[in-house]
Amino acid sequence: MARAPKGDAALPAFKYFADPVGVGVFEKSDQPCACCGKARGWVYTGPVYSEADEAIVCPWCIADGSAAAKFSCTFNDTGQLYSHPDNEDEPDPDELAEIEERTPGFENWQGNYWYVCCGHAAVFLGDASGEDLQGRWKSALPVVFADAEEILEDLQENLDELERGGSPGVYVFKCPHCGKLGGYFDMD
Ligand SMILES: [Zn+2]
Ligand SMILES: [Zn+2]
Repeated sequence: MARAPKGDAALPAFKYFADPVGVGVFEKSDQPCACCGKARGWVYTGPVYSEADEAIVCPWCIADGSAAAKFSCTFNDTGQLYSHPDNEDEPDPDELAEIEERTPGFENWQGNYWYVCCGHAAVFLGDASGEDLQGRWKSALPVVFADAEEILEDLQENLDELERGGSPGVYVFKCPHCGKLGGYFDMD
C-alpha cells in the first residue's frame, strides 16, 4: 500500500474559508510552527493581527484556535461587516469569534473585513480576477457594487485587465443559507 508522502497530511477544513491553498494563504514549507513546534509541511502566510505578527503558524493551530490563544492574535477583523443589501441582520458573536480566531485571513487593501448574508457569516471564496467576474463569480458583481455604480461602470470597461491583488480588489463570498454570491470591494 502506498504511504502518503510526508507533508501532505490532509489540511484542516474551514467552515468560512473555502480554499486557503487556492487563495494562497497556506503554502508548502518545512518551517516549524511557532505555536505547536512541529514542521507539518504547510504554513500560513496571510495576515495576523497582533504584536506577534512575525510568528509562523501552521494551518492546524489556526483551525483549533491554539495560535490565536497563544499569541493573542486574530486573522480577520469583524469589527466592520459588509452585508447583503436585502438583509443586514448581524450574525451571532460565536460565528464572528470563529472567523477572527479560527479562520485564516486573506490579503487585501484596507483590512480583511467579513461579509454576511441571511444573518450569518458567509464563506470566503477568494479575491476575483476579471475572468472570475465574467464567469464563475459574475452574480456577485451587482451585490458588491450595489452602492457604487460609477466604480462598477469603470470596472466593467476594464474587466479583462483586473488581476487578483489589483485595485479595486473584489472579495467574493457565498452565503451558506441562500447560496447567493456577494462580497465587497476595496481600493489601494
Ligand atoms: Zn502549529
Ligand atoms: Zn443569504
